Amino acid sequence: MPSDPLSWIDVALRDLDARDLRRRLNTHDGAQGPRIAIDGREYTNFGANDYLGLASDPRLAAAVTSAAQEFGWGAGASPLVTGRSVLHEQLEHRLAAFEGTEAALLFNTGFAANSGVIPALVGEGDVVFSDALNHASLIDGCRLSRATVQVYRHNDCEHLNSRLREASGFRRRLIVTDSLFSMDGDLAPLPALCDLAERYECMLHVDEAHATGVFGQRGRGVAEHLGVEDRVPIRVGTLSKALGASGGFVAGSQALIDWLANRARSYVFSTAPPPPLCAAAMAALDIVECEPDMRTILLATAAGLREQLRAAGWNIGPSASQIIPIILGDEQRALAAATTLREHGMWVPPIRPPTVPTGKACLRISLAAGHTPEMLAELLKALASA
Ligand SMILES: *Cc1c(COP(=O)(O)O)cnc(C)c1O
Repeated sequence: MPSDPLSWIDVALRDLDARDLRRRLNTHDGAQGPRIAIDGREYTNFGANDYLGLASDPRLAAAVTSAAQEFGWGAGASPLVTGRSVLHEQLEHRLAAFEGTEAALLFNTGFAANSGVIPALVGEGDVVFSDALNHASLIDGCRLSRATVQVYRHNDCEHLNSRLREASGFRRRLIVTDSLFSMDGDLAPLPALCDLAERYECMLHVDEAHATGVFGQRGRGVAEHLGVEDRVPIRVGTLSKALGASGGFVAGSQALIDWLANRARSYVFSTAPPPPLCAAAMAALDIVECEPDMRTILLATAAGLREQLRAAGWNIGPSASQIIPIILGDEQRALAAATTLREHGMWVPPIRPPTVPTGKACLRISLAAGHTPEMLAELLKALASA
């Protein structure tokens, strides 16, 4: 009998099992929120990026319903063909106004934005400097670009500086970084990165995926929070985390946006997002603009929780945000702790390689505006027994 050419997969999965690295798909019932029903049991949910609780906000659902009645659901084509409706155009204008830039471009996801933007900006003969802890979508964008990729040590501007000094032979230079690192919850040193980008005439692409709607006086992200938004020419955000919807965007100059609409392959060769999704995103932007207290309170609560966790002796690394990892080191410990927390009704996802480097397995607490003081007290109690 001929052997099955896919049989290696069983072997590879068993290997993941043996190393405590196999992921299982969980399915939840009902809406996303601070409480979540998974496999028939209710948990307090510390695993969502729905930081402002907008994913299940009735205002977004109402916007979707009425837009669907007028526009239907599907976009039907890529934006350059016939897929871009007036709702897409309105949302892009709203995003540009929200970000304070000339223009913005809507992608299907943040992943598509990052993996499309980088290859549109650099190619063979160019160089990209990428933070060692950047999100997978930035890493894939670097790989797809065929530019030389130089990975610098996480948040280490000295190291980046030394690499930049030796990079004058390349045609174009680009620095890419998360603004709020998705696993460690720490912030990129954006003012120093802006200094370096300006000194070495380097493009700078900052991914605000976890910071849009959370950081900054107007919710624009860490660049606004650190006072450098005018010095970051390529700003990426997502509508799928704090904004509770779905989709990614790039904000910048009109020329940048025009170029990306021509050359970002994940934009050009992908069907536009459903028009009602744009209506949901605009409803979310209204809320973020009108209710700044949500983000202020969330960040204050996060600061309090970080303090309590540190006082209780947990290693939360350099977290400075609503993303708080409890670093446990090996995969088995992280899995065992997550299981104990589940028994106490707390859903806190264990994060293992390849999402984090080997030896840095953790529990990732993702704090949201809807978490009550009682929920946090229960979390601390459950952790004490884990
Ligand atoms: C989640 C995430 C993305 C991808 O955004 P999606 O809209 O979920 O595709 C990009 N960058 C970072 C840093 C992220 O954490």
